[in-house]
Amino acid sequence: MEKLEAAVKEVREAYESGRTRSLSWRRTQLAALRRLLYEREDDIFIALKEDLGKHQAEAYRDEAFDAPCWILLCLLMRSLFDFDFDIDFSCSGLPQVGILIKSVNLALEDLKKWMAPVKISLPLIAFPSTAEIVPEPLGVVLIFSSWNFPIGLSLEPLIGAISAGNAVFLKPSELAPSSANFLLNIIPKYLDNKAVKVIQGGQEVGEKLLDQKWDKIFFTGSPHVARIVMTAAAKHLTPVALELGGKCPAIVDSIAGERNRKVAVQRIVGGKWVSCSGQACISVDYILVEEKFAPTLVELLKATLRKFFPNSDFLSRIINEQHFHRLSNLIKDPSVANTIVHGGSIDYEKLFIEPTILLDPPLDSEIMTGEIFGPLLPIITVKNIEDSIAFIRARPKPLVIYAFTQNNKLKSRIEAETSSGSLTINDTMTQFAFDTLPFGGVGASGFGQYHGKFSFDMFSHKKPVLRRSFLMEYSFRYPAWHEWKLPF
Ligand code: NAD
Repeated sequence: MEKLEAAVKEVREAYESGRTRSLSWRRTQLAALRRLLYEREDDIFIALKEDLGKHQAEAYRDEAFDAPCWILLCLLMRSLFDFDFDIDFSCSGLPQVGILIKSVNLALEDLKKWMAPVKISLPLIAFPSTAEIVPEPLGVVLIFSSWNFPIGLSLEPLIGAISAGNAVFLKPSELAPSSANFLLNIIPKYLDNKAVKVIQGGQEVGEKLLDQKWDKIFFTGSPHVARIVMTAAAKHLTPVALELGGKCPAIVDSIAGERNRKVAVQRIVGGKWVSCSGQACISVDYILVEEKFAPTLVELLKATLRKFFPNSDFLSRIINEQHFHRLSNLIKDPSVANTIVHGGSIDYEKLFIEPTILLDPPLDSEIMTGEIFGPLLPIITVKNIEDSIAFIRARPKPLVIYAFTQNNKLKSRIEAETSSGSLTINDTMTQFAFDTLPFGGVGASGFGQYHGKFSFDMFSHKKPVLRRSFLMEYSFRYPAWHEWKLPF
């Protein structure tokens, strides 16, 4: 405890010294972080493999995506003309920890612009005056991250906090120990280790950190711990950002055309199993589909699963025994097990659960009431696809709603009548990768949006600065009021 308090004090002193506010400090730290990502990308892949069995290509794409133009061109050709060729993701020199490199590059490029005060116009009565909105750092920020994207979800908010000129305390999740160790050992070698500190530990360390006073807490994790974080923050009136999860539905209309159906199903399989085997906050949690299209959809999903996963090599494993048992228990109950139409096998030794599809499990079963966060996909049938809207509205607001449809009326109704952190039409997951879009939840899926410039805003206070002159003075501002007569 004493060591922790001393470390927090040191970070506070670094912030109070004023150095984190300067453009040059922020730039130096961001550049060092970029160097870390380039120089240590192999260590990052090893840590992600150890923690989650993540394939290097998956890690490249998810915690990492800054594809050079020639790769993007190849991918475009491949998708437009159905060329079949392989890209060797292991070739040296590629910036493989790229979603982060993309974020650092954007921050380095735009930082001066983000930091610049914004001139504000004032009404005539204010003449002569000027006004600006000046972004200032919040102070010392505490970041809690989760285990499913243990590098990305630690460093993405760190980039935002540093860009905004804060000092930072980072606590990665203890459930991804190799990644947490990597961050603990490597960050002090690259960044200002008095102003940016990493601490390792679980619940006990988390609780001790929450006893301290912070200027902002950025939390990625479960609603249960989010409540603990918010309660502790209330003691010091500390603002919080809560990046939570929930059940993200995919509304799937009976898409017309063979190619469109193929693309839709690939994207659904991608959004369910290709990112960390469904252990992602923005994974498709369940599908809503019309009864008459359900059998076709199941067959298409099965065929795509066979194509994408000829064996288990391309699937991440379940993070630990506790989550393995939690997930296996969801499909143990006979009323749920009887609805399995694909998969269902489990391998305790390898902590592996086969991609599993269930058709119409009971709506009051645990698989349909809690966030699944794993490779199980319930499909719920509705009489009419428009009934999906009422189904979603009757439940907590999701982090994202996916909708696959060519029906413009349905698209408009979903947009107008449902609420979610984000809405993605005809794709999955990609909304996370585009940093011109803010990322975050609403209602039960959390609050506070980040990525790109939104991260800078998340960790800044937008201070209005009004500069007046002594020239004009209106006496009607002051009493005694009875001396005044209104002109009407
Ligand atoms: P969690 O809430 O168990 O843990 C999150 C963090 O809080 C970890 O660092 C953990 O060590 C810490 N913690 C745990 N108990 C604590 C306590 N009592 N006091 C203080 N700190 C404590 O969540 P998790 O299992 O790591 O993550 C899974 C959840 O996170 C899912 O619900 C998922 O949807 C959500 N998630 C959301 C996003 C997003 O960006 N919105 C991303 C990933 C995961």
